[in-house]
Amino acid sequence: MLRYRLARPWLTGLRAWRRIGGARPPALRILLLHDVPEHHFDALDRLLGTVKRQGGLVTPGEAEAWLAGDGGGAQEGGSPCLLTFDDGFASNHAAAEAVLSRHGVKALFFVCPGLIELDGEAQRQAIAAHIFDGRLGAADLPGAARLMSWREIGALKAMGHAIGAHSMTHRRLSRLPGDELCREVRGCNEVLAARLGEPTPWFAYPFGSIDSISAAALAVIATEYRFCRSGIRGPNIETTDRRALRADQIDLAAPGDYLSLVVEGGLDWRYAAPRRRLDTLI
Ligand SMILES: [Zn+2]
Repeated sequence: MLRYRLARPWLTGLRAWRRIGGARPPALRILLLHDVPEHHFDALDRLLGTVKRQGGLVTPGEAEAWLAGDGGGAQEGGSPCLLTFDDGFASNHAAAEAVLSRHGVKALFFVCPGLIELDGEAQRQAIAAHIFDGRLGAADLPGAARLMSWREIGALKAMGHAIGAHSMTHRRLSRLPGDELCREVRGCNEVLAARLGEPTPWFAYPFGSIDSISAAALAVIATEYRFCRSGIRGPNIETTDRRALRADQIDLAAPGDYLSLVVEGGLDWRYAAPRRRLDTLI
């Protein structure tokens, strides 16, 4: 792929340009992963090693403090990163046990309570229809595809990870009328609080794109959560609204240079327009 072949010279140019350009404002970057099948564990291991050598990885608690105004924690050579996973696939629990624990990394896992409650084939149908938005049928999903159980989510919490809300059933919030919006946004935290003993301050809206969110949805989210993470690339700096947090989607199948380019903000320029639109929705 051309963009993969260009990643190395692009990264070299970006680093040189930044050395000349001087210091940038301190930023927190949020990395966004989804299902992490076992054949991607080595790539995840390499990514975490790279990020730890650069800006370092912060825990969800440290990220909250950072976003609340304590902008410290940056290492020489890069921005600190928070690791997040969306959708709550069972592979996330396996990756936490096999890879994250080896690095001592604590992550934030966004889950959909309404889908966790479904069993077997009903859950696979819902994953295809809601998480993949009907682009896949249940029969197209890998055989092992399922979501974490409440027991596995509880185990993540016991390991020191944090759980966030990803809406009740992974609907596109920008298309929902008010009553369904409230159920998807507020109802989600009610179930999480009942199941896990406390509500979460974190929300990540499904699909993450600028067309998947609206001013009405962000207003409802703000009544229930302190932090709302999008899927729009960019740095989170002091002036970034906590309801419009940026995140970098990570494709573990991409080469290491391309992932470094993503983590170092080399693709940020392409997302300036959606970032501006997101900020106007607040
Ligand atoms: Zn999702």
